[in-house]
Amino acid sequence: MQKITWEIEYKSQLPVIRYCKKCGKKTEYICSDLFRMNAQHKYLDIWLIYKCSNCDSTWNSTIYSRINPKNLNPEILEQFYTNDYNLVKQYAMNVGLLHRNGAEVGIPEYKIVGQDICIDDLTQVHIASKYPCQLKVSTLLREKLGLSRKVFEDMLDCGMIKSISGVDLRRSKLNYEIVLQIGKSKQEYLNQLD
Ligand SMILES: [Zn+2]
Repeated sequence: MQKITWEIEYKSQLPVIRYCKKCGKKTEYICSDLFRMNAQHKYLDIWLIYKCSNCDSTWNSTIYSRINPKNLNPEILEQFYTNDYNLVKQYAMNVGLLHRNGAEVGIPEYKIVGQDICIDDLTQVHIASKYPCQLKVSTLLREKLGLSRKVFEDMLDCGMIKSISGVDLRRSKLNYEIVLQIGKSKQEYLNQLD
């Protein structure tokens, strides 16, 4: 069986929406790409700073609250102090964290990079994302395979698209990766000819 990888390439930040007190309405908050650290006694608070796109009011998205810095890997701690861009992205693109901090999150712009497949062959497809953006797997599949909702549902029903890890492909969202099997197995193909 052919094995391929589709990688999600993000073209924008994750849109973050929350109520701005100063504006008196919900607005989009833009990530400043800067962490804020506050040490109190033995403990450390770490936030990622956002700004209201309309009035520049700041909002701190909590990453760690009263953590003992000894419990953090020294390299990671250094990355927090130096606003390491890759670390910023890991938190700025983390839907679960933003939800826990009370923000609404939109869908970032993205592209699915990877070779197209032929559904007459059986292919193992690994969909990978660098960030836990929680895009709907069904949307990604329909987009990449160019399928209507009806055809997508039919392919799920007859097992032509199935999740190797056994998750519900109608509902599941992509965190870092998912592995699927797409297409007809030889046996199914032969049965069809009979
Ligand atoms: Zn505002």
